[in-house]
Amino acid sequence: MGKKEKNTQSHGTELSPFESMMKRFDIAAKHLELDKATYNVLKSPQKQLIVNIPVVMDNGELRVFEGFRVQHSTILGPAKGGIRYAPDVHLEEVKALAAWMTWKCAVIGVPYGGGKGGICVNPKELSKGELERLTRGYAKAIADIIGPDQDIPAPDMGTSGQEMAWIVDEYSHIKGGYTPAVITGKPVLIGGSEGRVEATGRGVMVATLAALKTLDIEPKKATCAIQGFGNVGSVSAKLLAQKGLRVVAISDASGGYYNEHGIDIAAAIRHTENNKKSLRGFTGGKEITNQELLELNVDVLVPAAREDQITHANADNIKARVIVEGANGPTSADADDILAAKDIMVIPDILANAGGVCVSYYEWVQNRQGLYWTEAEVNQRMEAAMEAAFERIYKIRTKYKTTMRIAAYIYAIDKVAQGLKLRGNL
Ligand code: NAD
Repeated sequence: MGKKEKNTQSHGTELSPFESMMKRFDIAAKHLELDKATYNVLKSPQKQLIVNIPVVMDNGELRVFEGFRVQHSTILGPAKGGIRYAPDVHLEEVKALAAWMTWKCAVIGVPYGGGKGGICVNPKELSKGELERLTRGYAKAIADIIGPDQDIPAPDMGTSGQEMAWIVDEYSHIKGGYTPAVITGKPVLIGGSEGRVEATGRGVMVATLAALKTLDIEPKKATCAIQGFGNVGSVSAKLLAQKGLRVVAISDASGGYYNEHGIDIAAAIRHTENNKKSLRGFTGGKEITNQELLELNVDVLVPAAREDQITHANADNIKARVIVEGANGPTSADADDILAAKDIMVIPDILANAGGVCVSYYEWVQNRQGLYWTEAEVNQRMEAAMEAAFERIYKIRTKYKTTMRIAAYIYAIDKVAQGLKLRGNL
């Protein structure tokens, strides 16, 4: 794929995800009067690995898949970030996702840098055996640069606990001893944390309630639309509905579903469980397009699918009062000013979806101390961390008279820059 190839499902942005990230970085760097040397260190990924993974398919054919692992920064700790399986994954996207992880870990306050990985593959087209061989091949290919003190991957789009289990197994064979702390998002039975599966969506719920509070909107009177019904979208929908919000629309790659009385989220989850994770054929709402969902007249919009869903092409049509970014990079930089001018509050990805990496950190801590916490303990710690992070960023927003997004970048870049100064030489 070309260097600047865009997400095929994006809505007309001219910027690659990395360029979108850098535009915000530049604004925050200006606020901070960041010196040139620090700027140069922080803008470029520390390490980028491209691997080719040969896999014997079930029909005997040998196919080669391209994969990536990018470590954007290890200044505040080992690199941390998920592994994405998608047919259009490319290096520019992984670089942006890795940088966002650096800022996200700083914002939520976990002692990590940022990294990300990906494989160019449509996992739905592979059998379980093919997926396992591909995943083990990828683990072997990146084993040299990952580790509990180097770089700790986790799930992202298209991957789940099963892939993490194969990776920890492969890595442990290579190292000659079980090493659960090399990866997070593992099934609980083999060292995963209680609460990890729901963590990102739970964090989105906490961020949404905090945002509504600043706007004096009662959750029970608020309506909500959620794009994406995978891990993040479905859990966000479930928990927001539990808090009394009326979730009037949901969607996934198959399309959207609208019900003004509120979608029955439990029924939608059941539908996906029996339908290869897809909402296709869901009868609990009238069919709408993803574009229509984004432009609904709701209080809260949660984009929880992919990058570049809200761009200069549709930002002016957005009617939500708050956008809570469950996905990474759902709003391109060229939409930021349009949304700000419309007084739409955007809770940026690096804050809104940080609940996931927060509980990943708890998983790593539990693995290293060999002592496991209850789900209630995990949830309570994470919710407190999310609330504190929201408050920190909200204060900076007020101080610098800027958006929540730029405030989050200011906080994160300043913290990583201070770390760089302290360590001096990386
Ligand atoms: P997932 O694979 O479980 O679900 C993705 C969902 O998005 C699916 O329902 C899919 O059908 C839908 N989708 C894909 N393309 C779409 C489109 N064009 N329009 C509408 N829906 C579309 O992935 P996930 O783990 O829920 O991740 C979703 C987003 O959240 C990603 O941006 C990911 O980086 C981010 N994120 C995930 C986590 C996590 O813990 N899983 C943590 C932080 C951020």
